[in-house]
Amino acid sequence: MEPGPGPGPGAAPGSAWHYAGRMTTPLSAPGSRVGSGLRIGVLALQGDFREHLNAVEAAGAAGIGVRRPAELDGLDGLIIPGGESTTIDKLARTFELRDPLRERIRAGLPVYGSCAGMILLAEEIADPATDLAGNPQQTFGGLDITVRRNAFGRQRESFETDLVFKGLEFSAGAAGGVDPVHAVFIRGPWVERVGPGVEVLAKVEPSLAGHPESLDGTARIVAVRSGKLLATSFHPEVTGEKRVHELFIRMIRGEA
Ligand code: GLN
Repeated sequence: MEPGPGPGPGAAPGSAWHYAGRMTTPLSAPGSRVGSGLRIGVLALQGDFREHLNAVEAAGAAGIGVRRPAELDGLDGLIIPGGESTTIDKLARTFELRDPLRERIRAGLPVYGSCAGMILLAEEIADPATDLAGNPQQTFGGLDITVRRNAFGRQRESFETDLVFKGLEFSAGAAGGVDPVHAVFIRGPWVERVGPGVEVLAKVEPSLAGHPESLDGTARIVAVRSGKLLATSFHPEVTGEKRVHELFIRMIRGEA
């Protein structure tokens, strides 16, 4: 996301500057160019794909909006954005992207999914939506997890919190500490089951959720990784947090 007119009380809610005061990596920090030379696609059917395109370009990669099967060619990695998983699934079928995308994921294309993107990467949805004919929504799959949609509650239960996030050691300061990740949850899913080989990178403790009762006293998994697949329940692309995208780029490069 491009910084808007600048920080201050006039910053629009939802803009990067709106979050700037709470960010662990300020927008003014010179960006890492770790993505130089890479072509990273962002599925651009629905949702906040522009913010992801800005995030990968800020890291020095070429960002490619993907709407057609041919646009999957020559990508080093792909991001599935936040939005509405049922709509993205439906549009992916309409644009004949679903099958080629499933094949690429199975063939090892590195993919990062945020929020709806996490749902679309999951092998299983605990509470899938159904269409008018009663058919449950489908995912692209690839990640051996079960997700529960809207698990933290509806829109008004959206919340923000700081998370301890594994795998960001590359961002450690001089004293060796890694700053927490400021995470924004907007009708996000949580992960209820992880299969073998899936690493848990972050959890929300009940006391930190906007609506603690919804967690039922259990710390809920909100970031996972398996091989070259990465998924988060929250939206680093809206806060200006760059390290989750950087982790993904390092995974593409084989450096993480
Ligand atoms: N609740 C949405 C879904 O099920 C995801 C929300 C989001 O991506 N912010 O697709």
